[in-house]
Amino acid sequence: MIAILKHGTTAEQTEHLISWLKRMNLDVHVSQGAEVTILGLIGDTSRVDMELLGSLEIVESVKRVSEPFKQANRKFHPEDTVIEVGTAKIGGGNFAMMAGPCSVESEEQIIEVAQAVKASGAHILRGGAFKPRTSPYAFQGMQGEGIKLLLKAKAETGLPIVTEIMNISTLDLFADIDIIQVGARNMQNFDLLKELGKTNKPILLKRGLANTLQELLMSAEYIMSEGNENVILCERGIRTFETYTRNTLDLSAVSVLHDLSHLPVIVDPSHATGKAKLVPPMAAAAVAAGADGLIIEVHNNPACALCDGAQSLTPAQFDVLSKRVAKIREALV
Ligand code: PEP
Ligand code: MN
Repeated sequence: MIAILKHGTTAEQTEHLISWLKRMNLDVHVSQGAEVTILGLIGDTSRVDMELLGSLEIVESVKRVSEPFKQANRKFHPEDTVIEVGTAKIGGGNFAMMAGPCSVESEEQIIEVAQAVKASGAHILRGGAFKPRTSPYAFQGMQGEGIKLLLKAKAETGLPIVTEIMNISTLDLFADIDIIQVGARNMQNFDLLKELGKTNKPILLKRGLANTLQELLMSAEYIMSEGNENVILCERGIRTFETYTRNTLDLSAVSVLHDLSHLPVIVDPSHATGKAKLVPPMAAAAVAAGADGLIIEVHNNPACALCDGAQSLTPAQFDVLSKRVAKIREALV
């Protein structure tokens, strides 16, 4: 349930109302916009007398929020959330380009790719240190050593880092990481989500291989309900009957999520398609659809990559893509 307060309501009146609502065992989420203040009520709202609440002098209107996601819901927070990492901003009209290899493989590799993508306009460096692989015999990532190399690349280039966490026991290693990624396979690892909700790090939450958009938003809600409101949603393709592409990019997710939620939405055309050739057109389409950012796999030698070489762009290909994205964004304004 939300209560929209009248323009001109004082802080004291708002506080008074919040205490009254809290006495009914409700959590109250306050969204202070430029125009309106909205109180989002979480908990058993069946005991709230909507008519009484709506008749209060400072209350403009009261509405039930039927969706199960509350804090991620745009009705709770009409303005776009903007997430800031270093000098990069994501959401609310700010676009972030994230790029880098699937996995960190060596110091030379990550530094070379970091410098190249930065020169091409990337705002954030990606790179996996802990890798969720289908086969236990495949390269599992450089783990803690990989995190150290990412931080070296950050020191070298100034680019903020996004990298995936698989197990909360490794959280300490992420202290200087800027954005923690929750991969598709962990989208519904609720214990992990709850623990990440207790941190104040931005979380890049990828859609699960076979999850609905409502389930994605419920996973965001797990993080937010613990106090961390810095969630970035990521569409990375879902599993369908189509086998030509690695996954099927559900581009309508961008518009649907923007409608339902105030959280930024980015698109990963690399994992969505699995083929380097398809990455630039899908990246272009995602930008045209209003994505708040892209996350693209780039490798200095895709043919020799230890993971996801087939979908990785060379730095030169990324440069072309980045310029094209800039032109599309200009055309959108
Ligand atoms: C990745 O970003 O390298 C990754 C494993 O992505 P996803 O979780 O979307 O498969
Ligand atoms: Mn990958």
